[in-house]
Amino acid sequence: MIDHADEDVYKTLLESTKAIPWKINWETKAFEYIGPQIEDLLGWSRESWATAQDWIDRIHEAERERTAHNCIALSEDGVDHEADYRALTAEGDYVWVRDVVHVIRDKGVTKALVGFIFDISERKAMEEELRQANKKLEMLSFQDGLTGVANRRLYDETLDREWARAMRNGSTISLIVIDIDHFKDYNDQCGHLQGDECLKLVAGALQEIVSRSTDFFARYGGEEFVLLLPDTGREAARDIAERCRRKVLDLSIPHPASSVGQVLTISAGVSSLVPGEANSRSDLFRIADRMLYQAKRNGRNRFACSWSQSLVSPKLLEG
Ligand code: GH3
Ligand code: MG
Ligand code: MG
Repeated sequence: MIDHADEDVYKTLLESTKAIPWKINWETKAFEYIGPQIEDLLGWSRESWATAQDWIDRIHEAERERTAHNCIALSEDGVDHEADYRALTAEGDYVWVRDVVHVIRDKGVTKALVGFIFDISERKAMEEELRQANKKLEMLSFQDGLTGVANRRLYDETLDREWARAMRNGSTISLIVIDIDHFKDYNDQCGHLQGDECLKLVAGALQEIVSRSTDFFARYGGEEFVLLLPDTGREAARDIAERCRRKVLDLSIPHPASSVGQVLTISAGVSSLVPGEANSRSDLFRIADRMLYQAKRNGRNRFACSWSQSLVSPKLLEG
């Protein structure tokens, strides 16, 4: 038996823990007890916790119905349970709490609920921070660290998706593979750091060429870039390749060591395919890459298309 002296000890213990104890009479749905700590946590006076409805009213709208419904159903069935929810403070803010509920029954009938409310706001904030960090990490893992444009990984994923879509729709998909001319010499002459700056400039300029929401530009690796053009036929792809060449030329980045002229240039290979039985997605890159090699062999600062043996050779640079 607990005598009065013991009761005081228990009361002191209960009211000095971080967990906030409470008791509800299940027949009347009235609070019979709530620890004074609730005033520190939520700001409402102990007296303001009169009935279970006061508890329900102070649950955030987003969790209210589900929390109240679960709690009532489980309490009726005599099942101990717990719930995480945001509790309203007297100042109008919300605090994440965990309510752990024990059901007291007599002859199979629920008589009372006793429980503890825990402040879990710190843990929730940490979880949210972690979620944001993961989201950022995921985004960064699709982003090229140097230039900020999409990386090879996102290109692979995008190609898978667009290839399947083109296959379903029987539409043409084009790819432009772009490579900076004599970039090794550029690094040797200007230094690796300036080489990095140059890559950023070129990537930024080429990214601007993307006009349709389905067009996709990425750094494939090193000084190579890809421009994937779903629903784009040969003529349009050829026009875009020329715009890319022109755009980089117009940046007028000095490159005295280039065999092409005085400024930095790119070469490109273009492929266009309608996905079908006879080809696979890797053909799209393989063909464009072969065309790039041909453009290089033919003097650089130009592009070559898979469907045309007559290579497009723009006017060479003056000077
Ligand atoms: P080509 O016209 O035949 O393409 O000649 P190239 O010199 O551009 O080709 P090569 O493949 O011989 O050299 C590519 C150079 O690109 C070598 C490498 O150091 C440089 N490179 C690759 N990635 C980076 C990078 O992230 N930063 C810098 N600064 N240079 C890079
Ligand atoms: Mg290269
Ligand atoms: Mg190169």
